[in-house]
Amino acid sequence: MRWIDRFKYCGAVAVMCGMCCAWGFPVHRHINRSATQALPPPLRGWLMCEVEWLSAHATDADKRKHTVEREAPRHYLDGDAPALACLDTLGEAPWYGRALLACSEDTLWEYGVLPWQIGWSYRQLVVAFDSLDRAGILRNAADLGHYVADAHVPLHTTLNYNGQMTGQDGIHGVWETRLPALFGGGYALLVEDVGYIRDVNLWAWASISHSHSCVPLVLSEERHATALHGEGLVREERGGRLGLERDEAWCATYHDRLDGMVETQWRASILGVSSLWYSAWVDAGEPDLTGVFEPAVQSWWKRFLQRLGWGSQMERAPVP
Ligand SMILES: [Zn+2]
Repeated sequence: MRWIDRFKYCGAVAVMCGMCCAWGFPVHRHINRSATQALPPPLRGWLMCEVEWLSAHATDADKRKHTVEREAPRHYLDGDAPALACLDTLGEAPWYGRALLACSEDTLWEYGVLPWQIGWSYRQLVVAFDSLDRAGILRNAADLGHYVADAHVPLHTTLNYNGQMTGQDGIHGVWETRLPALFGGGYALLVEDVGYIRDVNLWAWASISHSHSCVPLVLSEERHATALHGEGLVREERGGRLGLERDEAWCATYHDRLDGMVETQWRASILGVSSLWYSAWVDAGEPDLTGVFEPAVQSWWKRFLQRLGWGSQMERAPVP
């Protein structure tokens, strides 16, 4: 049985955006911020010193797609690509080394390496924690948060990533940007059960498999909304440009028919990011990071300089 078939059931346009984004940038930033706030102590106390940085840089990985070779395939896995049938005999969570023996490297990178990228970023974060490498901790935590969030977007797990194979072009942006913008304010996104993840590779594949199981509903309910409202397009400004978006009535119908899917996947992203950051710290031996981030107690003159906006720049090495 193919790994992707093990999860058959989902638990439960913005036209101008097309396939360019993962979650919209505001959602990625929110996920890293909320994941920091959800951490258990003492890690929460240390990383909260950098919550603004972790949030602001949650989208760096997407920005690198245009400048860094092989960055784009790190953000998706086309789980239904016939060419990936070479993974079928490798179990539900194939290791990259075994996948390389079963498929060509070009095939893997053509159809995406997202589950393995989560493992690679995770191990880099463990090393950074172990080395008390402040810049490495921040860089790898921010990137890991991004890739984990991408793994929870159903359309990041299929060849039909923007509905282009079924005449539903633009559905990618509707699901991950338009719906969160319209309805995200009412979501319950607090997570409290952050915990240790023992097998990161298995967790990554299971998360992506679940996201993939949501794809049929993502597509079928788009047809339902279109049957009811037609194209439902409206001109709206975003990022200083006018473009076509689905109107609110169309989106409300689609959102209702998805039955909480966007909210569930958003919350699962936060829980996953926070749990993996925490697990990486545990795997690094639970190092004391007091001197790495803010000192526990600061002298009065350092607090005075920071209030003037100088302290943090003076004391911290720049993050590459
Ligand atoms: Zn991405």
